[in-house]
Amino acid sequence: MAKIILTGDRPTGRLHVGHYVGSLRRRVELQNSGEYDKIYIMIADAQALTDNADNPDKIRENIVEVALDYMSAGLDPTKSTIFIQSMIPELTELTFYYANLVTTARLERNPTIKSELQMRGFGGSIPVGFYTYPISQASDITAFKATTVPAGEDQMPMVEQTQEIVQRFNYIYGETLVTPHILLPDNKACLRLPGIDGKAKMSKSLGNCIYLSEDPNEMKKKVMSMFTDPNHIKIEDPGSLEGNTVFTYLDAFCRDEHFAEFLPEYNNLDELKEHYTKGGLGDVKVKKLLNNVLQAELEPIRAKRAELQKDIPYVYDVLKKGSEVAREVAASTLDEVKAAMKINYFDDDALIRASIEKYSK
Ligand code: ATP
Ligand code: MG
Repeated sequence: MAKIILTGDRPTGRLHVGHYVGSLRRRVELQNSGEYDKIYIMIADAQALTDNADNPDKIRENIVEVALDYMSAGLDPTKSTIFIQSMIPELTELTFYYANLVTTARLERNPTIKSELQMRGFGGSIPVGFYTYPISQASDITAFKATTVPAGEDQMPMVEQTQEIVQRFNYIYGETLVTPHILLPDNKACLRLPGIDGKAKMSKSLGNCIYLSEDPNEMKKKVMSMFTDPNHIKIEDPGSLEGNTVFTYLDAFCRDEHFAEFLPEYNNLDELKEHYTKGGLGDVKVKKLLNNVLQAELEPIRAKRAELQKDIPYVYDVLKKGSEVAREVAASTLDEVKAAMKINYFDDDALIRASIEKYSK
């Protein structure tokens, strides 16, 4: 069976380092591994509108930002199809049919939806579109017959919901859809990178982000203001690593070679952690290391972005061409789905013949 990737992001803002470690970095590695037959990367504007219906400009403006982030991080339009969700109306049609296979009770149990509802403060006024976006995500994944969805931990319930829809669809209508699997980051710190406030996960909607395209000075300011261990007051105090955001980021980004370059008194992160927990290591020194590591990691991305920003029409052209390719693929899956569901009335000769026979007696 073909190995196919589908994944994407909501254009609710520029991409941040949580996206990078949670999904984007992995996508680029998978793309360059040559192990996948097809890679589809979707800018999920229709999904973003489910909780931003009153702010279409935000979504519209961020499409090109996300595309710039993708390509500057290494997604290559000659190897991966980058497209815009709303340009593929077949996805909406699939969602309508899949909605019949899911109960409201099942949607209510989705833990990511639960926490997102709380975060967005909808109260009792939950938009139906938001509530049902896991169904639309099943359409996105299955339309491309994706086998693999590289994503952060928050996407697990979405992929599980998709698996259930596939199972139920294939059971009722015959083997048609492909069951996808999530590909989580190997590194625990990357599953759900916290925001710089240390509270919730880093999220565009919460404003606790370090952006991939962050200006170097701004990034340094953010790192120096980051949440650490509130009880680590004097340098001599033993520090705790638990819930210490600076160390979580180091876990996500730091490699041994960074120590040789930026902090040669230590060989690796384990040694630094040991010193911190014993006492005698100040937060400022650790934050400076993190800033250096992040700057080194993000500098090539920033430079590539500066190049791409000079040719915005090219970026839109990539999205347009990608959307055309994606649409053909989704349309072909929709045809199969409708045939399986017996809603292909006009190209079913047997159906027409049976009707003729019925009335010719
Ligand atoms: P929004 O607040 O609009 O939902 P978001 O920051 O949660 O935005 P999404 O576009 O919803 O970003 O997520 C895109 C991808 O990035 C998903 O695969 C998600 O798992 C991953 N991701 C997002 N935030 C993080 C994070 N903090 N840590 C790890 N992965 C993340
Ligand atoms: Mg999200």
